[in-house]
Amino acid sequence: MKIGVLALQGAFREHRLMLESLGCTVTEVRLPKHLEGLVGLVIPGGESTTIGKLMVQYGLLEGIRDFHAAGGAIWGTCAGAILLATEIEASDQPRLGLLDMRVKRNAFGRQVDSFEVALEIKGLSAPFPAVFIRAPIIESVGANVEVLAKHEDAIVLVRQERLLASSFHPELTNNSSLHALFMAMCDSSSVAVS
Ligand code: GLN
Repeated sequence: MKIGVLALQGAFREHRLMLESLGCTVTEVRLPKHLEGLVGLVIPGGESTTIGKLMVQYGLLEGIRDFHAAGGAIWGTCAGAILLATEIEASDQPRLGLLDMRVKRNAFGRQVDSFEVALEIKGLSAPFPAVFIRAPIIESVGANVEVLAKHEDAIVLVRQERLLASSFHPELTNNSSLHALFMAMCDSSSVAVS
C-alpha cells in the first residue's frame, strides 16, 4: 500500500518509520506531484502555521484537496489535525478546511504541560498510549463526524468518512494500532489516485 507523509516540517520521519514497519511503501510529499499513485496521506504534527504557509507556497492546499476529492484518505495528527479543520479558534491561518470541526490550538497548556495518557479508542481493543504536545482540543464537530476518543471532556480523535484527525502524536510511541486503523481506512475508501 502506497501512503504519503507530508514532509514540509515536523514529525514526518516517525510516521514514515511506523508505516514502513507495517509494510507500507512511503513517499515523502513536498509537492503536489508526489501525491500521484498514493491511497493515503499523513499530515504530521509540528507547527500548523509554518506547515500551512509552506502548503500555500508549494500549491499543496489545492493539490491535497484534489487528492481527497479523487478518493484519497487523509490523517492529520496534532498540527495536521488543525490543518484539516474547517474552523480554528481566533485564527485565519491557511488550512485545508476539509473536516467539519472547530479546534482550539495549544488548548492543553504550554510545552511543559505535554503529557501521556492511556486513551480508550473506539475500534481499538486496548488503551492507546497517547502523547500530547502543545495539543489542540477539538471543541465541536459537525453531524457527519464520529468522535472516536475523548480525554476527560475534550474530543481528541475523530473521523469523517476518509478523514481522520488526532490531537495527539501516535507516531511517538511504539504502538502502531492507529496507523493500522488508518491503513484499513485507506484500503476501504480508495483506489490509487493518478
Ligand atoms: N501547537 C502546534 C500548533 O498549533 C501543534 C503542536 C504539535 O503538532 N505537536 O500548530
